[in-house]
Amino acid sequence: MDKGRCMRCKKQVEIKDSENYTMKNGMMALKGKCVHCGTKVFRIMGKA
Ligand SMILES: [Zn+2]
Repeated sequence: MDKGRCMRCKKQVEIKDSENYTMKNGMMALKGKCVHCGTKVFRIMGKA
């Protein structure tokens, strides 16, 4: 499972319902929810 940093848990967490998308500046990112608290979690993947 993909991982990202949860701002609420303040640690690396697994991301559920993750999906890739491209941000306005052309950077690839992954967004989903923290498996622990449900807070939205983003992870920057870098330039496409
Ligand atoms: Zn969390």
